[in-house]
Amino acid sequence: MTLRCDLIIRDATLIDGTGGPRRRGDIGVTGDRIVVIGDLGAASADREVMAEGRVVAPGFIDAHTHDDQAVLCGPACMLCKTSQGVTTVVVGNCGISLAPVAMSERPPPPLDGVCLPEWWIFDSFAAYAERLEKTPSAVNTFALIGHMSLRVGAMGRDLDRPATDAEAERMRKWLAEALAEGAAGLSTGLFYAPSKHAPTDEVIAVAEALREHKGLYVTHMRDEADGVLDSIEETLRIGQSVGAPVVISHHKCAQPENHGRSKETLPLIERHAMRYPVAFDMYPYTASSTSLGARKPRPDVKVTVATSVPHPEMAGRDLFEVAEEWGVSAEEAAARLMPGGGVFHNMAEEDIRRIMAHPLSMIGSDGGPNAKHPHPRLWGTFPRVLGPYSRDLGLFDLETAVHKMTGRTAAVFGIPDRGVLREGAFADLVLFDAATVRDRATFTEPRQVADGILETWVNGQSVYTHAAGASDTPAGRLLHRQAAA
Ligand code: ZN
Repeated sequence: MTLRCDLIIRDATLIDGTGGPRRRGDIGVTGDRIVVIGDLGAASADREVMAEGRVVAPGFIDAHTHDDQAVLCGPACMLCKTSQGVTTVVVGNCGISLAPVAMSERPPPPLDGVCLPEWWIFDSFAAYAERLEKTPSAVNTFALIGHMSLRVGAMGRDLDRPATDAEAERMRKWLAEALAEGAAGLSTGLFYAPSKHAPTDEVIAVAEALREHKGLYVTHMRDEADGVLDSIEETLRIGQSVGAPVVISHHKCAQPENHGRSKETLPLIERHAMRYPVAFDMYPYTASSTSLGARKPRPDVKVTVATSVPHPEMAGRDLFEVAEEWGVSAEEAAARLMPGGGVFHNMAEEDIRRIMAHPLSMIGSDGGPNAKHPHPRLWGTFPRVLGPYSRDLGLFDLETAVHKMTGRTAAVFGIPDRGVLREGAFADLVLFDAATVRDRATFTEPRQVADGILETWVNGQSVYTHAAGASDTPAGRLLHRQAAA
């Protein structure tokens, strides 16, 4: 009897996500799983795709996103990700999550950037999960709980102080409930105003919930500039105090006086990694993006307005030009544009390459799906690593590039049966042309679909083709963390 599949992709270059070498072969999918890999000359399928040597890899896992609302808005909302080959997004980063705290008024920045005010309706993680089940996305979702969201829930607007023991206990309890309902860990954004008054001990008290539920500790650290080494030590202290594996978010050395300091940060992280599980994600750009009020403007750092509630017409404009036009200081202009977001050109290419090439790195976009004029990382991160950095610059081979977006990420976050091409694994797949793949999103034209990403499948269903764009197939699921035994 001949084998029959739902889908066979023939004559592909298979890059399996483990970092191991590519090989030529066919891959067969039935339902939501890869059922066979090898020579499928004798098999047939309802749909057959001729890859003609192009690459089939596990679908990419975006290690760092703010897609908490975007995944609730229907499959087409995720074109910015499926067009890059992304099949799973990690949401709830930087201390910001849509659950488990409902909010009746607009929360302080940067919390307000993650969704429209009417979306703060989830008073439990179970409610968020239920909504996701009712209106699935095109991609899978893996969710963290944000310390900043918990803090506003427990402390209201009185945030410029440490939490009391009772408030920290309330946050710990909410976190424990959310973890029991399927969230994967805790994120913090200790850099930001609503959280920077939280001392290390407050975070440890809240994070205590991670111990029992084997959750992760993920952090936008307190300081990614002058105090970056101290912040790495604080991060490890928090994780170790509660026995939680650690992920440092969007690792960088920010501000001109810190350029080159990845020579110090990476060896420090490495030393910790020898005896404790720690990893980091990064995005392949020398500009960051965050709330316009987050960093004081300075003349040696170019800032572009990404979004502004009171002045939407300024999106895409240079902050210093806006200030000149208004006859005010850049700081005053930033204040007038708030609530709003900006793109800050504050990193060095040397650090980006060193951090990206490091074996502990994973790729995460950190894109802002709600910005009017977003940072190009929202649409370009993954193809930019595959094309310009791996193929053109030769920073690492394609197998390593894929590993940093798939197998490594699945292992760090504890996402079972994904991030790898294996018989029995879920059929999250991307078909791309290694010779032509590249990002097209730029700082001036950020909403551009990448070249060379030909088709993306989530749980066996096609969610994107380069020829036809996004399908409206709600193929995504909520994924749960499986901690290593
Ligand atoms: Zn962040």
